[in-house]
Amino acid sequence: MPAPLDILYRGPLASCNYACPYCPFAKRRDSRETLRRDAAQLARFVDWAEGQTRRSLGILFTPWGEALIRPAYRAAMTRLSRMPHVRRVAAQTNLSWPTAWLDACDPGRVAFWCTFHPGETPLERFLDRCAELDARGISYSVGIVGKREHLPALAALRRALPPAIYLWVNAYRDEGPNYYRPDDLAALRAVDPLFDINRTGIRSRGRACATGESVVSVDGDGEVRRCHVVPARIGNLYDPDFEAALTPRPCPLAQCRCHIGYAHMPHLGFREMFGAGLLERALPPARHDAMPIVERVR
Ligand code: SF4
Ligand code: SF4
Repeated sequence: MPAPLDILYRGPLASCNYACPYCPFAKRRDSRETLRRDAAQLARFVDWAEGQTRRSLGILFTPWGEALIRPAYRAAMTRLSRMPHVRRVAAQTNLSWPTAWLDACDPGRVAFWCTFHPGETPLERFLDRCAELDARGISYSVGIVGKREHLPALAALRRALPPAIYLWVNAYRDEGPNYYRPDDLAALRAVDPLFDINRTGIRSRGRACATGESVVSVDGDGEVRRCHVVPARIGNLYDPDFEAALTPRPCPLAQCRCHIGYAHMPHLGFREMFGAGLLERALPPARHDAMPIVERVR
């Protein structure tokens, strides 16, 4: 069986067609030169992936901004989804783009981590895009930033989305640990059984984490880090002996606070629980009552 490798790819592209006030990344305009460099680096990465036939690749695009408004990313996902050894190609996205390009993708392997941003787009338009993914049989998750004023939008999303679609909430942390009232927490937990894991994070120092071994973070230059938040470089994807850098490593940080990271801590069992939908955060419907894992983490 080919060795699995999951890659979290983040090139220099940082621009976005939305302007969310809570955007975790400084909103930037990309110069023409940055966009050209980003597209060239993306093309190099896709060429590299094509040659990795001894591996079973999972790829998640985690851009600083919105990548899928750019033809280069649509073409990259289309091409990657057609490679026999790419088991998944997913992207974090605001789902603001027209979907016709998806007809050229393998719908069983392309997937999306979709965030709804109230204030940037009407709910109906976002739901129409979700329906277009459903019509193609494409796996996706939907989520929202858990600001208290987003609770009505969260409830409306839950009512309108198919029950099979997992709806996650990213905790809003900018206003401190006492931001949520007890009734807010009850409402958030009722929608997302994994909300508390995201809100509190996981004590991770010294614990096992598959990043750096079977999951890596890669930037546009091919520089490899174990995950997006541990800065130490462990190698370069384009070095012929890159595989020698892949080895088990305990987490060096006190806390892991993002699904992209703690999803790869084996003691949480996310890989088993999410199955094929791990990269796009799509929890299968049979697992929507995820309380056993929450209890195990406490
Ligand atoms: S859609 Fe995402 S990247 Fe774009 S402004 Fe909103 S939070 Fe930032
Ligand atoms: S536990 Fe989180 S922070 Fe630590 S290495 Fe893994 S992904 Fe990175």
